[in-house]
Amino acid sequence: MATQTSVILTNRDRCDRCRAAAAVRALLPAGELLFCGHHARKHAPRLREIGAQLRPDP
Ligand SMILES: [Zn+2]
Repeated sequence: MATQTSVILTNRDRCDRCRAAAAVRALLPAGELLFCGHHARKHAPRLREIGAQLRPDP
């Protein structure tokens, strides 16, 4: 149980498009996506279009 939880947390700290550390969290009605700085900038216009809130992920 504990191991499974920590794996999930580790995965959530990574960009969903590459393996870089996540810098931005995109909050969507359907869930969350994490992006590195590069992919956050690349996808921000589209994400806002579909109603995502972008927040820095410290
Ligand atoms: Zn990325």
